[in-house]
Order: sequence, then C-alpha cells, then structure tokens
Amino acid sequence: MAGAPRGDGELSARLRGIARALDRRFGRPGSCGHEIAPVPNLVLTILSQNTTDANRDRAFADLLARFPTLPRLAAAGAAEVEEAIRTGGLAKAKAASILSALRRLKEERGDYTLDFLRSMTLADARSYLTSFHGVGVKTANILLLFCFGFPAFPVDTHILRVTKRLGLVPPPATLAKAALSLEPRIPPGEHMPLHLNLIRLGREVCRPRNPLCPSCPLLSLCPEGLRRTGGKAGPL
Ligand code: SF4
Repeated sequence: MAGAPRGDGELSARLRGIARALDRRFGRPGSCGHEIAPVPNLVLTILSQNTTDANRDRAFADLLARFPTLPRLAAAGAAEVEEAIRTGGLAKAKAASILSALRRLKEERGDYTLDFLRSMTLADARSYLTSFHGVGVKTANILLLFCFGFPAFPVDTHILRVTKRLGLVPPPATLAKAALSLEPRIPPGEHMPLHLNLIRLGREVCRPRNPLCPSCPLLSLCPEGLRRTGGKAGPL
C-alpha cells in the first residue's frame, strides 16, 4: 500500500516509480531553458528571492541592459544597481547581495568565476554557495544541478506540496529539509527530469487547491490522492 516509506530502499524505489510515471505522462524533459553561465546564474538566483519568475527575469534583463559585463556590474554603485533591478522587488537588499558576491569572488578567486566548484564535493559546493548572502539551499541546488550537473535536487513550493501529499517527506518539512532528505535517494540521472516533471505536475495537476487526483499519473502511488478518491494503491 502507498504510504510513508519505511526505509531508504523503499523511498528510492518509490522515487524511481514516480519518475517513470511522470516521464510517461509528460515526456522526458531535456533542460530548464535557463542555460546561462554560473556567475550570471548566481546573480539571477539572488534576484529570484520573494518574487515571481516574470519579475525576476525582467529585473535580470534590465540589469544586463545597464551593465552588460560582470566587471562593469561589479564596479557599479549600489544605488545604480538598485535602480536597475527595481522591478524585481527588495532592490536594496538584492543590489547589496549581488555586489558583495561579485566582489568576494574577485577577491578570493581573482576573477568572476565559479568554475572551481566543479572540483568540490556536492556538499562543499553547496556550502560555499549558501555562504553568499541571499543564496539559500534551493537556489544553490538550482545552480549546482543546471550549471554544473551535480546530482542536487532543488525543491520549490510545488515540489514540497507534491512530495508531502505523496508521503515522501513529513508534513513539517521545509524546502531545505525536503531537498536534503530526497536528494541522496533519487536514482542517478533522475534529479533534473524529476525536478522539472514534479514542478509541472504541481502546476497542472497537483494544484494547491482542488488537485486533479482522478487524472493524476501518480494516483496509485499517492496516499493523499487515494484518501481523496477512496481508491486503492497499485504497484510501483
Ligand atoms: S494523486 Fe492527487 S494529491 Fe497525489 S500527487 Fe496526484 S494530484 Fe497530488
């Protein structure tokens, strides 16, 4: 029966079954469409705090239009950067975070680069990124997964909701706790496709209100869906 996984092996098996079912429904996703270099991606992740993707992207485009290179951005004054990213909200704090991140990289590494992360372990690379002001576990994981190909698992609000309903993480889990508990149990090669397909499921099917359980590809694996529909669990 579907329910809270009893051990690591069972959780891994359920995650594999979920990944397969989502691939069948949505297809195998290739990329997230945000293929930008690591340091600009770090800037993008700082801009993504507490705002919508659309506002983040507008602020990023405005910033690039005003400061087309990293050295020019790093040399800018805080007020100029703040003005350029105003559409993304929290402009003062984000401008300070962006400038301090760029200046720290230049000081520590002699260049605006994050390439040295490639030679680190996943845990060390994440720890380095989250030491920047304005970079949390979720945004660090996005960068590590999409820019560097680490087996990191970013958990956003859609994935947190879906994985709680599936009984993969406990109800009180935060974004960071869910990410760190699921990440090592996800089968190799599934981190990116599962991340993208769970977000899609959360947006289109497992919506915050009125999830469409009867037409969900995960119904037979989902305690919450079975409770809502009065159905029975099927095989993985
Ligand atoms: S069965 Fe319902 S609750 Fe479970 S994942 Fe699907 S939509 Fe969400």
